[in-house]
Amino acid sequence: MFASRLDRARARMEADGVDVLMLSVGSDLPYFCGYEAMPLERITMLVVPREGDATLVIPGLERARVHERPEIFSVAPWGETEDPIAKIADLAGAADTVAIGDHMWAGFLVDLTNQMPNTSFRRASSITSPIRQVKDAEEVARLRKAGAAVDRIATRLQRGEIPLVGQTEAAVSAELGRQILEEGHDRVNFAIVAAGENAASPHHHAGERVIRAGEPVLCDFGGTMIGDDGIGYCSDITRNIWTDDRPDREYLEAYAVLHEAQAAAVRAATVGTPCQDVDRAARQRIVDAGFGSYFVHRTGHGIGVEAHEDPYIVEGNTQPLAHGNAFSVEPGIYIEGKWGMRLEDIVAAADDGPDPLNRADHHLAVLG
Ligand code: ZN
Ligand code: ZN
Ligand code: ZN
Repeated sequence: MFASRLDRARARMEADGVDVLMLSVGSDLPYFCGYEAMPLERITMLVVPREGDATLVIPGLERARVHERPEIFSVAPWGETEDPIAKIADLAGAADTVAIGDHMWAGFLVDLTNQMPNTSFRRASSITSPIRQVKDAEEVARLRKAGAAVDRIATRLQRGEIPLVGQTEAAVSAELGRQILEEGHDRVNFAIVAAGENAASPHHHAGERVIRAGEPVLCDFGGTMIGDDGIGYCSDITRNIWTDDRPDREYLEAYAVLHEAQAAAVRAATVGTPCQDVDRAARQRIVDAGFGSYFVHRTGHGIGVEAHEDPYIVEGNTQPLAHGNAFSVEPGIYIEGKWGMRLEDIVAAADDGPDPLNRADHHLAVLG
């Protein structure tokens, strides 16, 4: 698998005139070689020449972390008093063009450009993103498994099996995090819990606000499930709960619009449809209902080894959906000082139609 991914990367390097691909911290490295760099001041770098063998330059003390795959790369540990930048530049030789990891630390890039003044650098995503965006059946299965895990947590929230009223947002967020791990993830990426007026901020940070009876709570959570091959796949879901049995009429009316808008966007997400048309499908319904100015973000983001990646479901992205694209569909309505709501599923585009990877109930959960 890694060999074929690197083959595809080399084919793109050939087509794009890139001599060397350099991958460091971030999700490209595990995706292409199964190793995840520690995000520390000691540099790790996979150096992939277009022709020739790949080398993983790694801090000597981290060598034991590497699951060696000699058919993919050789390991070049550097000692504490060595200059790793010189070592990396040496492996790159006289490269005219280097594509370097988007999440590489800027400090290391500055050092490399000083060491390689005649080389032009571009983002590695120009090579890696078109490959990563198209998930194979195994990857979709792993996203589905992660999705099913957060679906079970969402269902417990909707059934009132996770206490909300009287708890702080932070306590519920911690409980969601605990369940994300218990359900098989290796990492919690986020667990947004936003009560009442706090939900009007789409990325609200769960705090000491105590959740009361008779108000809405927005929960948006997900994590990463890492397989034996070292590659992790992400989950991401949003559901909304009303904490007693008398939901506010205005909220219910808006929720009905949101529910229909989200479903319409999922239906629109067929192979060949431009990404922006999926956004438009959701947005049009929300605009028609008079809530257009309250839908303050794009409809979705791609998901895979990273929680947010290409393709983005946003106006202006004319890229047609391809079989194997996986992305969120998550319209929202946010009214400052009152409440906010968002409904989110991960969907895979497939030749036989949109394939939702989240199945938890889409209706407003009304407790009590
Ligand atoms: Zn978000
Ligand atoms: Zn989310
Ligand atoms: Zn999302």
